[in-house]
Amino acid sequence: MALFKRVLIANRGEIAVRIIRSCHLLGLETVAVYSSADKGALHTRLATRAICIGPAAAKDSYLNINAILEAAKLSGADAIHPGYGFLAERADFARAVTAQGIVFLGPDAGTIATMGDKISAIKAMKAAGIPTLPGSDGPLGHDMQANRALASRIGFPVIIKASAGGGGRGMRRVDSADALADAIALTRAEALAAFGDDSLYLEKFLTQPRHIEFQIIASGAEAICLGERDCSAQRRHQKLIEEAPAPGIVKNLLAAMAARCEAAAKGLGYQGLGTFEFLYQDGEFYFIEMNTRIQVEHTVTEMVCGLDLVLEQLKVALGEPLPARPLVRGHAIECRINAENPQTSLPSPGLVTGLQLPGGAGVRFDTALFAGAVVPPCYDSLVGKLVCHGHDREDAIARLRQALGELEITGIHTNQALHLKLLACEQFSPWQRDIHFAAKLL
Ligand code: ADP
Repeated sequence: MALFKRVLIANRGEIAVRIIRSCHLLGLETVAVYSSADKGALHTRLATRAICIGPAAAKDSYLNINAILEAAKLSGADAIHPGYGFLAERADFARAVTAQGIVFLGPDAGTIATMGDKISAIKAMKAAGIPTLPGSDGPLGHDMQANRALASRIGFPVIIKASAGGGGRGMRRVDSADALADAIALTRAEALAAFGDDSLYLEKFLTQPRHIEFQIIASGAEAICLGERDCSAQRRHQKLIEEAPAPGIVKNLLAAMAARCEAAAKGLGYQGLGTFEFLYQDGEFYFIEMNTRIQVEHTVTEMVCGLDLVLEQLKVALGEPLPARPLVRGHAIECRINAENPQTSLPSPGLVTGLQLPGGAGVRFDTALFAGAVVPPCYDSLVGKLVCHGHDREDAIARLRQALGELEITGIHTNQALHLKLLACEQFSPWQRDIHFAAKLL
């Protein structure tokens, strides 16, 4: 059990704001850190105090471990919450934090390292009885004859993935034996350049899967699954719309997978929030990766479970018991609002000149925006999450469409029109939808 009273949030934007709120609800003090590009940003205004940790470039600020540890020392922070992105899944960061005697609000560095590498993660999950796709069972070798034999045995199409990859990068689909050698060479070179690690993994490529993931909260000794989310609405392997519960999947099947995830988390001695991600096709689940941190889309789980996940995570870290297993009520659905040009989908940074917020029962907008806020060009383009809860899926979608129509952000461009198009689409029915439907539609 750890005791702490001042939490440094090593992040920015909506997630920093969201974490600060839960800390304050528990009476914990907060320390915001910011780059010079985020001077005056909402998270710096809501925290108990704020410390500048460097220039705009993320590598010099939000990814600068020394600067963050220095800020923790200076402010007397005794815990650090990494949020998502940036350093959240860096085992070296978790280790460095703990080495300073500061509580890292996440699993231990060893678990982050195992799960951060696709090869070791798949190996660990197989051992825990979690189903995986047929694949290379370890790193892909340099013997092309053996690789061709393996791919043919699995059956084309296959997908080659950088073991250290993340955020939808470092993956390549291969449709024939002829294309295999070039695809491996290209992905290897990209992986080395992007992640500094050229190990690759090969597995079966599924042509019509849905993306279904299970939320876990764990105390080390115990783990409970807070249900699943469907994140099949994606573009370029990036999630756009997420919902809970997953529509159109037999409840018994979901409950069985949830139980296996709980057992796996317990086996890992997992601590805090985590997500097991699966592809689902033809009634079967296949593990693809585990995220050892809070996820963007945790909010839909909060809405249907009636829980504040960050608050529960903080309580568990403070030695309190896990929450009681919640009943899932109604349906929640979320749109990721990105600052992007609707024609080119390139980032659209700038000054927010006006903001009109949606409201009403079951409507939630998590954001760091305000009129006068600046969206800097140097970070992720996510500027808000519009989440609606309804008594069923149809009701949640109706509320979300209404809220999307009410939300007005001026000064920057957003992807609101794209979301309205997706939600209006007849194909946005759970049965016709797979991870490729959004790309096909758009
Ligand atoms: P990352 O770590 O980059 O997020 P993941 O392994 O989680 O990579 O995969 C991200 C997305 O890529 C999935 O949600 C899915 O859309 C697609 N994908 C991954 N593996 C496969 C596969 N075997 N077959 C088809 N699509 C896949």
